[in-house]
Amino acid sequence: MKLLSTNGFIVYAKKMNEADMLLSYITEDYGKITCFANNARKSKKRFLGKLEPAMLTNIKFYEKPGMTLDILYEADIVEDYKNLRKDINIYLFLTKLTEISRILCQERDNNKNIFYLIRNIFKSLDKLETAPSAERMPVSVNTVLLKYEIYFISNLLKFTGIYPNFSNCIDCSESNLRNSFDFNLKKGGVICKSCAEDKNNGHAYSEIKKLPVNFINLSNLMTGSDLSIINKLAVKEEILTDCSIFLRDFLSFHTGKRLRSFETI
Ligand SMILES: [Zn+2]
Repeated sequence: MKLLSTNGFIVYAKKMNEADMLLSYITEDYGKITCFANNARKSKKRFLGKLEPAMLTNIKFYEKPGMTLDILYEADIVEDYKNLRKDINIYLFLTKLTEISRILCQERDNNKNIFYLIRNIFKSLDKLETAPSAERMPVSVNTVLLKYEIYFISNLLKFTGIYPNFSNCIDCSESNLRNSFDFNLKKGGVICKSCAEDKNNGHAYSEIKKLPVNFINLSNLMTGSDLSIINKLAVKEEILTDCSIFLRDFLSFHTGKRLRSFETI
């Protein structure tokens, strides 16, 4: 067995037996890994307070050849984003981010961009002021978090190679010049009017969705910029909510899974 070390964020944690835990991490060097942590809830020195969400930890783990599960040896805190666990709205966003990461990222598919995407978002959210203040403009926290959500999902779709084709009809390749095409959930791309109306094409009505206003522009902007775009973009909350619903539907359809984190509240 080899003892390996890397930095990572927990995206899944499940209690096992009396004191053990199963944990999935998005790591800096190995992509997503899943570890079995023996006696995790009793071993104070190695694990106590170090297996929380919204925490960057350095982990040491044993890799067993031929096994899908690694064995977590110990964890040490590198960066703790405490504020993410204090505000309920940010915490709900955090549950979405971790659930989507866990579902979309493949084991051992190393992509440093995903690790840094999460790290940048955590760092930025940790500094977000959520308390009301007389000096600041009354921008709702929800609006800001929706922008983070769209930024995160759009970029994750890019990095995992499943970002939809918005520029050409998925059936006939016609250019979506005015961004007026609807979206075919099943095929994961936009579809022109005549292909959508072609009954012989076998499209079920439920698979074709209207794209939210400005969704393509918004998503393209967010995948082409760093996080500072969030503060520069002024978009109404209703539009952001529609975009969030579209992304949820796309992710559910694409992965065949219900996203439970979108069902809270
Ligand atoms: Zn077409």
